[in-house]
Amino acid sequence: MKRALITGITGQDGSFLAELLLDKGYRIFGFARRESWLRPNNASHLADRIEVLFGNMAEGVDISSAVQAARPDEIYNLASQSRPGLSWDTPAETLVVNGLGAVRLFDAVRHNSPQCRVYHASSSEMFGPSAGGPQDEDSAFMPVNPYAAAKVYAHQVARIYREGYGLFIVNGLLFNHESERRPLHFVTQKIAYGAACRALGIVDSPDLDEMGLPIVREGKLRLGNLEVSRDWGYAGDFVRAMWLMLQQERPEDYVIGTGKLHSLRELCEVAYRTVGADWRDNVVSEPRLVRPLDAGCTLADASRSRARLGWEPTVSFEEMVTRMVKAQVDRLRAAATHG
Ligand code: NAP
Repeated sequence: MKRALITGITGQDGSFLAELLLDKGYRIFGFARRESWLRPNNASHLADRIEVLFGNMAEGVDISSAVQAARPDEIYNLASQSRPGLSWDTPAETLVVNGLGAVRLFDAVRHNSPQCRVYHASSSEMFGPSAGGPQDEDSAFMPVNPYAAAKVYAHQVARIYREGYGLFIVNGLLFNHESERRPLHFVTQKIAYGAACRALGIVDSPDLDEMGLPIVREGKLRLGNLEVSRDWGYAGDFVRAMWLMLQQERPEDYVIGTGKLHSLRELCEVAYRTVGADWRDNVVSEPRLVRPLDAGCTLADASRSRARLGWEPTVSFEEMVTRMVKAQVDRLRAAATHG
């Protein structure tokens, strides 16, 4: 039975990946902060099927202890401070977790488990604004936020350790991927939530935004720049690509994305249409919510992944948004029923 260690098991990707690997017969070790694991999280439903190792990616000793305890064949390093927007407020902490944490993990592998195969979560945010055309594995990095800068650091050290020490480390350059498990502070989930509030006639929402105000206030969802465009895919599809990367003969970096660009305005259109409403009556754009710098339009050229991994997305943009809205309707209904 293969053994896999997943950092960030409580997150969106960690929970989808754990389900996938359990289906494949893996023994799963999840690395999680104790306080996060002990409250309801994305992987709670798997609690009796996985073994949890408590620790923090900011602590080197926690990371090496987990690698020693799990003795994994594969590691998926998904833990990170994953919010580019928040990284403006916490640049140093973001670097410690996303940059140093990853490098400490690579070191733990080098000293304790050099045969282990490692997937590292890089990000399309590292590319920054598209200088022209879709981005592939050879496109230049131009990070425009502290999150992306920390990811570039870890990405480069992963490559250096692969070439210098001969470790099997793969960087996955994943474009945005969403699902019903995305936390509420991500704009895509806010839009799904806004549409769900509209469906249920909620004018002032129970959930609050980063400023402590209802996400839907006086019947309106308040967002920043609606013309921001991204290549959005479905998380369930993307974790399959992570696994495929570690099954290849030799380690290489891969871009994963759908190759289709959509704006937040389009996302609003689909979400509100799902509940029979017009987004223009329900969404307003506010300057205070616009990011200091935005990565602009980023579009994936996933030709290498399609050719070598045989990877294809299976869930469309419309289907993904519809699933997210329905999940938020169910969640709000359940919350209303249970008090
Ligand atoms: P997510 O849902 O925010 O999950 C992040 C995970 O990291 C959570 O389990 C979180 O645990 C854990 N974590 C954060 N700080 C930690 C710390 N100090 N110690 C231990 N664990 C910590 O993110 P995701 O969407 O699943 O993304 C997975 C990875 O892919 C991340 O590295 C992200 O940056 C990267 N990525 C994501 C996307 C995307 O569109 N989703 C795109 C490109 C790259 P808590 O529950 O304790 O917070």
